[in-house]
Amino acid sequence: MPETIALSLDSIYQLAYQAMRDNGADHDNADALANTIFTAERDGSVSHGLFRMPAYIKSLKSGKVKGNASPTVSTPTASIVKCHGDNGFAPIVQRMAIPHLIKAAKDQGVAVLAMTHTHHMAALWPEVEALADENLAGLACVSYMPMVAPSGAGKAFFGTNPIAFAWPRPGKHPMVFDMATASMAMGEVQVAKREGHSVPEGTGLDADGNPTTDPAAIADGGVLLPFGGHKGSAIAMMVELLAGGLIGEAFSYEARERDNGDGGPPQGGQFILALNPEKLAGAGWADHSDGFFERLTGMGDVRLPGGRRFINRQDTGPRHINKALIDTISADITDPSAILK
Ligand code: NDP
Repeated sequence: MPETIALSLDSIYQLAYQAMRDNGADHDNADALANTIFTAERDGSVSHGLFRMPAYIKSLKSGKVKGNASPTVSTPTASIVKCHGDNGFAPIVQRMAIPHLIKAAKDQGVAVLAMTHTHHMAALWPEVEALADENLAGLACVSYMPMVAPSGAGKAFFGTNPIAFAWPRPGKHPMVFDMATASMAMGEVQVAKREGHSVPEGTGLDADGNPTTDPAAIADGGVLLPFGGHKGSAIAMMVELLAGGLIGEAFSYEARERDNGDGGPPQGGQFILALNPEKLAGAGWADHSDGFFERLTGMGDVRLPGGRRFINRQDTGPRHINKALIDTISADITDPSAILK
């Protein structure tokens, strides 16, 4: 097993924050991104926590992403919120725009947030969980760069195109699923490569188009497959259309064409839909859907998506972080010893 270092959650936040600050980000941008890293590590979303910091830093250094982004929000109609991300990382854009989305959905019953000119490389559950915390259902999706071969093809065309959905449960944790439409997120494939694990059959093809269980063969020149054959392929296509065509942002292949290849997140958009059950179903919606969840979870070993994270969240102790990763991040921080003491 690779060597790890125990880091408190506060140190994880500080490491991410300082890496951002020492590479040109202002306080607000650094704080928003570091909070995303902290929540990912806290909840056990390790493929989208500190593991992503080196890529974020590369994009600050190359100038592709602005560390002092100042997103602007507009509301062209009562149920449409647009946010121009000023080429910042997604967390600062979400921090600015989601309160407007919540207000619009509470007033109108349904509202859409179209985020453009932003760079997303995180898990999606924080944005839909923020909606569920306000008793709204939420659906979010984002495309990426071509990494997934559509059903019937041997070359990449779709991004890993995650989709997340949250359902509010007043007084309880919401139900939240958040999943790549690829058979496996590329971040997980990269973690498997780093840790020396194989991946399940059906995860991807190697550079010659042959099925493989070697994560390195997929990550280095190969291609991922969609989950569920043609059905997952259709959902990946829907994500491209919602996060690209609908909101006037890049499809995955366009994001690749305009990317500078620095290894950080490409410029693209994010689609977030908020739905108000109080306005649609009326009073009693929460008890009604809780009855549904009780029946569902009463069926054998069924657990609700999101449950693993909520259990992890209760643990306020240190997290065991790959030492080589900490060394890589520390190399871009002026005085890491102040954080890693
Ligand atoms: P997983 O396959 O690990 O999990 C997908 C969902 O299924 C989660 O909500 C998980 O909940 C739930 N789940 C897992 N096992 C069970 C079970 N036995 N019963 C019920 N529910 C279960 O996720 P992926 O690997 O597909 O994606 C990982 C992350 O990568 C996501 O957060 C995604 O947003 C992110 N990503 C981001 C991209 C980007 O460009 N920004 C691109 C691609 C992916 P739980 O968490 O509780 O286990």
